[in-house]
Amino acid sequence: MSTNKEISTQINKLKKEKDAVLLVHNYQVSEIQQVADFIGDSLELSRKAQNIDAKMIIFCGVDFMAETASILNPGKKVIIPNPAAKCPMAAQLSLKTLLKAKEQNPNVPVVLYVNTLAESKAECDVTFTSANAIQIIQKLNEKKIIFGPDWNLGYYVKKHIPDIEIIPVPAHGFCNTHRLFKNGDEAMELKKKYPEADLIVHPECEPGFQDRADYVLSTGRMYRHCKESPKKIFIIGTEIGMIDRMRREIPGKTFIPANPNAECPTMKRITLKNTYEALLNEGPIVKVPEEIRLKAIKPIERMLQMSK
Ligand code: SF4
Repeated sequence: MSTNKEISTQINKLKKEKDAVLLVHNYQVSEIQQVADFIGDSLELSRKAQNIDAKMIIFCGVDFMAETASILNPGKKVIIPNPAAKCPMAAQLSLKTLLKAKEQNPNVPVVLYVNTLAESKAECDVTFTSANAIQIIQKLNEKKIIFGPDWNLGYYVKKHIPDIEIIPVPAHGFCNTHRLFKNGDEAMELKKKYPEADLIVHPECEPGFQDRADYVLSTGRMYRHCKESPKKIFIIGTEIGMIDRMRREIPGKTFIPANPNAECPTMKRITLKNTYEALLNEGPIVKVPEEIRLKAIKPIERMLQMSK
């Protein structure tokens, strides 16, 4: 068995035999997206993970996403095809830094991006995703929050909620992949060439790029915007897997990457082959220690409740 087509056929067969569901993030490669039971952004995948009726979840995404699925599904086997698929942004927030910020700012709520590890989530009040950050923080109605780890998302929140005081943990967390767009000079050249196009960027991009965009949207919202808009051309400032999905699922429209090299190397550690092997071997299993899981589930469930 060597071609992608043959591996995909085997994956589809094993999914049925083993009562498994394949959850796939928008940034995965096209061949994995095509064997998915569900493709989405972090919020959509967390919602899906909350209501899964299957024995096994194969999570094609990075570490913190599979952990979230495991936290929400203690009775199910949650499997990540390659445990080396670790989000470097999530790793930027250490438990030590978070606990120190909490100690220095008693009674200030801790609001964390889902792109954090379970041990950090266990110490926070509510999580958020790029799709619901504004909604969650507005509903909290606090004057001051401890917020992390992505400072560019902090800029995006501050732009929408100017009165809020943000204590960032760590001081300047960022996503290596979205940093590749810099201030968006390349995208502005494309905009000159295609003035009728919408320039849409992810809030993990640098503030300078966010400020030049027509829309700053999570990948889930990007997808819906492009599908529903009467426009035909879109310049996209996020990881290139998202563009593969839109090109495949939204025919008749043109999607131009703002930077064709914006690839997340850790997302790409998941391959069709290791996805097949994970399904076959029913591992590697993702398991969060029960003591941490019981604490981490609260801010995740609170987020899901608040973003209904
Ligand atoms: S795109 Fe950025 S935030 Fe997302 S998994 Fe890769 S490094 Fe982490």
